[in-house]
Amino acid sequence: MIIVMQPDAGEAEVAAVEARIRAQGLGVHISRGTERTLIGAIGDERKLDPEMFDTLPGVERSMHIVKPYKLVAREWHKANTIIHVRDVPIGGPAIQMIAGPCSVETEAQMTAAADAVAAGGARMMRGGAFKPRTSPYAFQGKGVDGLKLLGDAAARHGLPVVTELMDVRMLDTFLAQKVDVIQIGTRNMQNFDLLKEVGRVDVPVVLKRGMSATISEWLMAAEYIAAGGNHRIVLCERGIRTFETAYRNVLDVTAIAVLKRETHLPVIADPSHAGGKAWMVSALACAAVAAGADGLLVEVHPNPPEAWCDADQALTPSEFGALMDKLGAVASAIGRTMDTARRGYSRGEASPMATATPA
Ligand code: PEP
Ligand code: MN
Repeated sequence: MIIVMQPDAGEAEVAAVEARIRAQGLGVHISRGTERTLIGAIGDERKLDPEMFDTLPGVERSMHIVKPYKLVAREWHKANTIIHVRDVPIGGPAIQMIAGPCSVETEAQMTAAADAVAAGGARMMRGGAFKPRTSPYAFQGKGVDGLKLLGDAAARHGLPVVTELMDVRMLDTFLAQKVDVIQIGTRNMQNFDLLKEVGRVDVPVVLKRGMSATISEWLMAAEYIAAGGNHRIVLCERGIRTFETAYRNVLDVTAIAVLKRETHLPVIADPSHAGGKAWMVSALACAAVAAGADGLLVEVHPNPPEAWCDADQALTPSEFGALMDKLGAVASAIGRTMDTARRGYSRGEASPMATATPA
């Protein structure tokens, strides 16, 4: 951190700044110029905050010179981090697909969804059992029963599950249910107590971007989890709020490129919550992969018009099969592959789901 003194600051004021830096255990370097004095703090400046100095007499302004995050920064860890969810690597050369319905509804819906997700070639399944709804009167999720339905449906195809944790008090239940990946949703990205708790467990976390969070705030949220000891973090760009009202959110494709430079952690994108419409998902998914995403989180429902939540943005099983074909081509154009456990047919052939009847 550098503290810039006012031109008329005296020695006593410089000494007061120096004392405050030393009190935090850092060293001091003073540079006296012809017009003003600059005071540099030497050591881990993350303990310092401009607020500690800006109110002192004689201080003009103070500023950080290094980034506020460390554990998640590529500056400190050059190689890409690969996170293994059972045997599925996220962050390596192959791109992963996580797919499934917005919310867990019924056993039949989950069975059909799991079949579609596996047939399309995804290696992980999503489904919300605890739903953060804008209205308290809307369906809030099936709760613990939903976790079981998700686990059972995914287990039929050996797919690890990804599901949202909203409340610290449910963490032990998530662990008992052997949830493979804990999702922290956009509304909880800065729920620091929740971040601290998931930082203490050894379960991978998908950290969604707060809908109005800057990249720096998002990386600081990831730093909270890492600081607790859990380094298995995947960042998920899910669209941000802007002045545009023609669609749900703006998929910030730029953020994907920036994050790949700023952090060693894997970065995935959620084109479903970004656009909010099924017809946009393919275009946004392709853009995210082209921009460097290591994976995608996509909503798929066996019968979208009947979905209890986010019906407008859910892909049908056949749309999902077609998307996987298209993503394979985009991935190969940038020298990557879609990691697909697809069985029964290869790219170019008709997807078996194209003819499947919705449940
Ligand atoms: C979800 O993935 O089900 C969800 C609620 O997403 P977000 O937190 O991005 O709105
Ligand atoms: Mn949803």
